[in-house]
Amino acid sequence: MTDATLLHVRDLDVTYRRSRRRGGDVHAVRGVDLTVGRGETVGLVGESGSGKSTIGSAVLGLVPVTGGSIAFDGADITHGTRAERRLLARRMQVVFQDPYGSMNPAHTVGDTLAEALRHNLGLPADAIRERVLRALDDVGLPPGAAHRHPAAFSGGQRQRIAIARALVMEPDFVVCDEAVSALDLSVQAQVLNLLARLKRTRGLSYLFISHDLSVVRYLSDTIVVLYAGRVVERGPATLVADSPAHPYTRALLAAAPVPDPVAQRRRRAERRTAAAATPATDRVSEGCAFTPRCPYAREICWTARPDLVQRDGVAVACHRRDEIAAGTATLPDGRTTADAT
Ligand code: SF4
Repeated sequence: MTDATLLHVRDLDVTYRRSRRRGGDVHAVRGVDLTVGRGETVGLVGESGSGKSTIGSAVLGLVPVTGGSIAFDGADITHGTRAERRLLARRMQVVFQDPYGSMNPAHTVGDTLAEALRHNLGLPADAIRERVLRALDDVGLPPGAAHRHPAAFSGGQRQRIAIARALVMEPDFVVCDEAVSALDLSVQAQVLNLLARLKRTRGLSYLFISHDLSVVRYLSDTIVVLYAGRVVERGPATLVADSPAHPYTRALLAAAPVPDPVAQRRRRAERRTAAAATPATDRVSEGCAFTPRCPYAREICWTARPDLVQRDGVAVACHRRDEIAAGTATLPDGRTTADAT
């Protein structure tokens, strides 16, 4: 960890305890390492159940950590007390997917934004008013928005209010958990542009969590791909999103919509080929968790878990990384994915 590191997550484990009758414990996150530098955006991407939101919740102190550690600006916050977490709220904020659900519909937007300042900072009324108006201005809402209720705003405007609520604390780190997932595409682009601008003007760092690789690619400097609670690929956003090495990241890329119809057709064909080459099975993998879904799976994948190996700036956990990168990894029918498309 260097002085440039703001968040350092090391060997993180999160297990949800459940009775045997309900299926036993759920290992939501296992052995995850990640760092977020000052002014950096790290994107966490994966499907539902991959563990990405659990990592965000662990960083925010919303779920207990079973193993490993979390440090923020050099201080260990793994098992922070409520008082320590309250202090930390000045620097670490969150924006969730559903802003309306976390706002009191009876409160005006001004009251909603001021509440956190009164509760955590005890600022005088004129300082609170100044911060609220600045935050609204920063997210592109007029001062008059402070006197209206959340129901008077559209979904995109409510998400701007949620961002303003995070900004009033003047944090240096924000967790965005599926923050644009509920918005339609044009509004999504506006909110992503807003987050990018705030990163520059306020010097923010983000942990940006999404199931959509193209959304994560837009905002992130570094992308971390999660599958079944483990990191399967990690590296610079341009490399991971534009030329993914892990078959799971390739599947995420193939699932993401693109405006270019030729590229879209190629991706659809690759998905069809991969699906056709993956016979259905009930076998449980003791090695790579992606084995039952992977068109490149071999016997070793069922029995040995691949290490996360860093090469050329990208860390990948896959036994067949080199063959896949070279385009020589064969599918069960003898073709390569490149042949089949
Ligand atoms: Fe596929 Fe095997 Fe690589 Fe896992 S280790 S992603 S099953 S090729």
